[in-house]
Amino acid sequence: MNDVLTVRDAEVDGVRVDVTLADGVVRRIVSAGSERPLSDAVLEAHGGALLPGLHDHHVHLLAMAAAIDSVPVGPGDVQDAAGFGAALRSAAVGAASDEWIRAVGYHESVAGELDRYALDAVVPGTPLRVQHRSGALWVLNSAALAAVGADPGHDGRFLRADEWLRGRMPSRRLDLAAVGRRLVSCGITGVTDLTPTSDASEVALLAAAVASGELQIGVTITGSADLPAAASPELRRGPVKVVVGDHALPSLDDLLARFRAARSLGRAVAVHCVTREALVLALVAWHEVGSAPGDRIEHGAVVPPEVFAELAALGLTVVTQPSFVRERGDQYLTDVDVADRPHLWRCRSLVQAGIGVAFGSDAPYGSIDPWAMQRTAIDRRTVAGSVLGAGESLAAGDALTRMLGAAEAPTVPRSIVVGVRADMCLLDRPLAEMLAAPDVGAVAATLVGGTEVYRR
Ligand SMILES: [Zn+2]
Repeated sequence: MNDVLTVRDAEVDGVRVDVTLADGVVRRIVSAGSERPLSDAVLEAHGGALLPGLHDHHVHLLAMAAAIDSVPVGPGDVQDAAGFGAALRSAAVGAASDEWIRAVGYHESVAGELDRYALDAVVPGTPLRVQHRSGALWVLNSAALAAVGADPGHDGRFLRADEWLRGRMPSRRLDLAAVGRRLVSCGITGVTDLTPTSDASEVALLAAAVASGELQIGVTITGSADLPAAASPELRRGPVKVVVGDHALPSLDDLLARFRAARSLGRAVAVHCVTREALVLALVAWHEVGSAPGDRIEHGAVVPPEVFAELAALGLTVVTQPSFVRERGDQYLTDVDVADRPHLWRCRSLVQAGIGVAFGSDAPYGSIDPWAMQRTAIDRRTVAGSVLGAGESLAAGDALTRMLGAAEAPTVPRSIVVGVRADMCLLDRPLAEMLAAPDVGAVAATLVGGTEVYRR
């Protein structure tokens, strides 16, 4: 009985128990120490809480892999223009002239609007590309512009031009195994990848990483409506991702066509809505096409109360990113319209209005740490310590449940009972202690399908 494991003396739902896992599922739960273990293999929990593995409901796995060997230049990484320059110059030291430097997470509050000349002043000779933290903008220096064969007069700013750039920049080895290791070290056993890709080769990379065990977690993908159904069908499909741009809204006809394409595939939609205008347009489309189980709003950064009843009636789930309150809140407090500020990154008011709410990190654009995300959902504090939307704070236990749903039912928390799949996260302390101060350092072990994939 090699595949049998007993987690001894774990706290499950407030009770100390021994939990036997076999063939990938929970086989037996008995009072701690009351019966002989069914296996020699034992994981000692010492009273620590055993939870269902967390699910991150919104990530971008390939971008996470790309970000791992990139220079972080966001407001939390570098202080100002001097820090920005120093980070990039040190990355350029010793780089071959055809070796690219990739920087990510940039925001104007660090060193203003960037263009090719601003980057040339920092790194003149080595190809350099800097990604805005929205993920939508790349800025290239002159060496990089020459390497991609851009028009000589180009200012270096490429907005939503990933497809064009991709074929022209050197391909990089993506270390999905490193992404997987980081996820399981946080107690995460499943993710939903919301990348709106139509590229079968990108999806094949993920499928291969899952098949080889590089990614040990459960992976559900969305893709765009144009992703061929035959592209890696072994990867679970969630809703179809539909992007309603933050600044350039699609036409209603275009949006309706994408909703209907999803429906013709028998799938729900996950609609990127950051601004108030995007949300209103998406709601018009929902009224026209009708909602379906599994339909979601991604981000929901601005949800005015006038639409609460409508969202609830349509049965939509909002997949939000509380960590942006911490990581970006200080900029929101200076940049965002005063009229929109009370509506930013709502949580509690949505829950109280009967709207389903689940959490996703949006990694790599947000931090991957699900426990830091829960802390922020509770305290609503920015990096500088200001509080954004105090009334939107959730109780600790409630914040946790937003990450306990499965991909297909984000708002239904899983629990540890006989017969469920043994995807779990073991803490080194009782749950009450963890909820009082959520800390990723308290994750002692992570199990996927009954197999230990992480031990602290
Ligand atoms: Zn995203």
